[in-house]
Amino acid sequence: DVTVGILALQGAFAEHQVMFQKISSKRKAVIVLVRTPEDLERCDALVIPGGESTTIALLARLAGLLDPMRQFLKKKPVWGTCAGAILLAEAVEGQKKGGQEVLSGITLKIARNGWGSQVESFEADLEIEGLRESNRPFHGVFIRAPVVLDLLPTLTSPPIQIISRISASLLPSSIVNRPLDEDDTDPTDPRTIVALRQGKHLLTTFHPELTKDCRFHEYFVTECVVPSLLEREKEEGVLA
Ligand code: GLN
Repeated sequence: DVTVGILALQGAFAEHQVMFQKISSKRKAVIVLVRTPEDLERCDALVIPGGESTTIALLARLAGLLDPMRQFLKKKPVWGTCAGAILLAEAVEGQKKGGQEVLSGITLKIARNGWGSQVESFEADLEIEGLRESNRPFHGVFIRAPVVLDLLPTLTSPPIQIISRISASLLPSSIVNRPLDEDDTDPTDPRTIVALRQGKHLLTTFHPELTKDCRFHEYFVTECVVPSLLEREKEEGVLA
């Protein structure tokens, strides 16, 4: 079994818990709701849920979890959804020092509430790559979602693999003008990226835990958590 922690300070952590309990995989995921550094220590991986990123960061600091989480992600997989994606980023647009604290797990720059504030949410059927049954779209629920602005250059981190992009044509007409419009046809535009992976880490700007589709949860366990655990066991075996 693998132990998956879900940061349970604020936001949609209970929904993630339900999803992990539902998935059928060869390795069962034991869930720990993480509220203290001791909780985190028991985990093989961590999920940072959607919610309010500044609140989550503030509560994590008060709980003494910010630095332990920064150390954690150097060794173990972390998946950030929505607000969690903001925390997992290396940089947040327009944030001065002392603003939004981040964990710098994935080398990208992100904008909070990047799809605009007047229309707070939308849903779109996304094409996905690398997940089980990739020919079937994934229903993306975007709630005041962040937008990926840039992939940052890195010499030390693994390459970023794109799992899903959104195009202007998928956006409801009320928000097609920001930040993507019909003229934005560059298929490599980073702002179109809504799900990606870098090494063992996973990022989705939408909320798979608010659907009934477990494919992202399965993917995280089978493709991120289990391989990273096996690798660590191997390294520790070599050291022992
Ligand atoms: N807009 C929120 C933030 O900045 C994220 C919203 C969400 O997680 N659904 O934290």
